[in-house]
Amino acid sequence: MRTARRMDNLPPYLFAEIDRKKAAKEAEGVDVISLGIGDPDMPTPQRIIDAMARAIANPENHQYPAYAGAKRYRDACAEWMRRRFSVEVDADTEVLALIGSKEGIAHLFPAFIDVGDYTLAPGVGYPVYTTGGVLVGGETYYMPMTEENDWLADFDSTPTEVLARAKMMFISYPNNPTAVAAPVEYFDRAIAFAKKHDLLLVHDNAYSEISFDGYRAPSILERPGAREVAIELFSCSKAYNMTGWRVAFAAGNAQAIKALGTVKSNMDSGIFTAIQDAAIEAMLGPQDDVAEMSALYQQRRDIVLETLASIGLSARPSQGTIYVWARIPEGYTSVEYAGLLLDRAGVIVPPGSAYGPDGEGYIRISLATPDDRLREALQRIADAF
Ligand SMILES: *Cc1c(COP(=O)(O)O)cnc(C)c1O
Repeated sequence: MRTARRMDNLPPYLFAEIDRKKAAKEAEGVDVISLGIGDPDMPTPQRIIDAMARAIANPENHQYPAYAGAKRYRDACAEWMRRRFSVEVDADTEVLALIGSKEGIAHLFPAFIDVGDYTLAPGVGYPVYTTGGVLVGGETYYMPMTEENDWLADFDSTPTEVLARAKMMFISYPNNPTAVAAPVEYFDRAIAFAKKHDLLLVHDNAYSEISFDGYRAPSILERPGAREVAIELFSCSKAYNMTGWRVAFAAGNAQAIKALGTVKSNMDSGIFTAIQDAAIEAMLGPQDDVAEMSALYQQRRDIVLETLASIGLSARPSQGTIYVWARIPEGYTSVEYAGLLLDRAGVIVPPGSAYGPDGEGYIRISLATPDDRLREALQRIADAF
């Protein structure tokens, strides 16, 4: 049996060495704590579970779902956009249900990228912005992201020869892993750039509902001209503690929505309609749980920042997401430093380099860790360093 050559081009699994060390530590009897998890630790709110229980009893929901999402689900997505951002989208042509935003990201590649075409991906970011291209024979240009440019992916530096073959560009704010938000002027510049170079601009807004210190993330579709070049991906995963349910949507440019829908209709058969009903409750029911989750993550962020400061590590206060992005001391690679944290404190953190070339020199600490485990991990780190 011979697998496709493109499989060999997928990047090596950076957690392999850490997984091996973790197994060895656990064999020694160490209670290893992971601060690596990008998955909310709190359960899905009860109101959503109750809606699911009702929806699952409805026999109409037991048949194949509609490809693009149930009409009532797409209407709810449009209503949520209206309430949350005052943005009007057409539920029939500008909204598409997704089996999680990861699925949407991955399927944009066969819709837009031919062999040899470039995708502009952030210098640190969600890995599928890159691996999705590898799997269709596309190329990636990493837009530089640095602390000095406030982790705003620098598309202006893209070489002309890359731009000539570029079709698509990803940005995502509030940002995983750097936890910064973007000023709306940055979105405006990205829209103008995409228009000038005839690119699809994809804004992955996975953390739209998780932000701190009074900040609330905008939709890129609030910005003038966005709909001519951009689509935005929203997900119930992080917003409503629903990662396991697999429900999200894309909104924006009708041509891109149609192309993505065409790929999907040849690949999958949509989301279980009962889950769409539960997601309608998530988006249109009372949103108090959303504010409570941001408050909880903000408290945890502050505890993490305090501990990091006490051991001489620097981190900017996260503006959103469920992470703290911390700079490591000079003299280590981020893989080495993650190894040291595991050896000395029995704590796992992902090395920044796992998220792209610009992540070297940083680690990502997840705030989706139960309070007692987070405190224990931080105490151990403070004791060990
Ligand atoms: C978690 C995450 C996703 C995936 O979300 P799903 O909707 O669960 O597939 C996409 N983008 C970013 C940046 C994420 O952190």
